[in-house]
Amino acid sequence: MTDRERKAAVPHLAVIGAGPAGLAATVAAAAHGVRVTLLDSAAEAGGQFYRQPASELRARRPQALHHQWRAWERLRDGLRTHVEAGVVRHLADHHVWFVERHDDGWTVHALLGPEQEEPVEVRADAVLLATGGYEKVLPFPGWTLPGVVTAGGAQAMLKGTLAVSGRTAVVAGTGPLLLPVATGLAAAGVEVAALVESAGPKAFVRRSRALAAQPGKVAEGARYAARLLRHRVRLLTGHAVVAAHGTERLEAVTVAALDAEGRGRPGTARRIPCDTLAVGHGLLPHTDLADTLGCRLDGTDVHVDDEQRTSVPGIWAAGETTGIGGAALSLAEGHIAGRSAAARLRGTGPDLRAWAAAARTRTRLRAFFTALDSVYAPPAHWTEQVTDDTVVCRCEEVTGGAIRAAVTELGAGDLRTVKLLTRAGMGWCQGRVCGPAVAGLAGCEPTPSRRPFARPVPLGVLAHAGESEDQ
Ligand SMILES: Cc1cc2nc3c(=O)[nH]c(=O)nc-3n(C[C@H](O)[C@H](O)[C@H](O)COP(=O)(O)OP(=O)(O)OC[C@H]3O[C@@H](n4cnc5c(N)ncnc54)[C@H](O)[C@@H]3O)c2cc1C
Repeated sequence: MTDRERKAAVPHLAVIGAGPAGLAATVAAAAHGVRVTLLDSAAEAGGQFYRQPASELRARRPQALHHQWRAWERLRDGLRTHVEAGVVRHLADHHVWFVERHDDGWTVHALLGPEQEEPVEVRADAVLLATGGYEKVLPFPGWTLPGVVTAGGAQAMLKGTLAVSGRTAVVAGTGPLLLPVATGLAAAGVEVAALVESAGPKAFVRRSRALAAQPGKVAEGARYAARLLRHRVRLLTGHAVVAAHGTERLEAVTVAALDAEGRGRPGTARRIPCDTLAVGHGLLPHTDLADTLGCRLDGTDVHVDDEQRTSVPGIWAAGETTGIGGAALSLAEGHIAGRSAAARLRGTGPDLRAWAAAARTRTRLRAFFTALDSVYAPPAHWTEQVTDDTVVCRCEEVTGGAIRAAVTELGAGDLRTVKLLTRAGMGWCQGRVCGPAVAGLAGCEPTPSRRPFARPVPLGVLAHAGESEDQ
């Protein structure tokens, strides 16, 4: 048997996404007898949670920006060992735009490099989707001013480039991500004037039993509270940023207390000067690849069984693509998915006892995040703060007024008709940013939109797809 034949005899798994889920899956699958190709659009492995500073920056203490650093070191070292042994191939800077089905396997189509013009094709026996999630941001007057960034964007800039976007920041919106963002910016020397969270304290009290069932998470919350206190960050719960102000760039925000209905309470608006607003209203799973493969979705999440298998045989999914739940849940799901894929590909059958501990962690954390989900929510009447001249779809510059007119004057009753009448969601981001906002303003269900490709693809690449297959 030649080396090539020997290699071809070992089953081959393609893992898309090198965040906590994809890394855990890669290491688990490689340790159990399959070859793995790990593709990720970022230059370094780590995903959002373990995002690493570019090596040229020579960060002396990158761990200062992270927690759970030991878990990262284990994954990083595990990946390195398998790469050196020739069992894993890590393709960084590879943007996957499509997964094609064949009778005997799959072809993963990717574009290489920052210009995303060089096509790469990887043949595999099975595919594991670990593409994570992306941020939801709802519009308000002034949100397009320079200086307004997404909460995750501010965090990614800090972790990836060691840079901050201003001197005085307000962190606002809703969700647990606001805590590491506010404390991370404060630790980096930014004056964080306020953390503005729209969920009110009563919502936490209502779910206190379910939340307290996770002592580790309660301790994590307490650590964040202590850090906010240490950096003198004002915590405004039950409040929202209702407008951002500035001429050339952001100069201040208006914050108001919310009443029981989620509307700004009259007489409570106050202006906070700042040059940065880091704002986010939660995360949504990346489901483009799963959706085009025909995998069943439950609402916005990819549906998986106990082994993290999707409804399409040969396709596994793990991490936030299956539902938003944080890095620890992604690690547990990735581990189970990697072990299951290895066992199924090698025909040995699943050994449920082998991943019982990870399965228990998964059950616990899923319950915790379901409880958390019902606590964190944008203000119920957020659409009322969107004025008619607020730009909602930034790619196509479609205003709130145009979307309302499509519904009230032109009779649009679903998202697709709103899109056709206004062009909202037709631009470069294909509705990924504005989709939830357009749905809210139009009063439609925020259904995941079907996009044939996960990334924009040059026509030349499409014309030659399938001509250069790699193993
Ligand atoms: C911008 C942002 C910043 C965040 N920062 C934090 C934080 O600081 N702390 C925290 O607790 N949580 C943070 N989160 C939440 C965090 O995403 C999760 O808790 C955790 O990282 C999820 O792990 P994952 O493996 O499921 O996905 P991710 O970590 O998101 O990893 C997914 C990987 O898939 C890759 N990918 C996606 N689509 C493709 C494609 N088509 N082709 C190739 N590669 C692809 C991405 O580049 C990414 O590396 C952040 C989320 C976002 C969106």
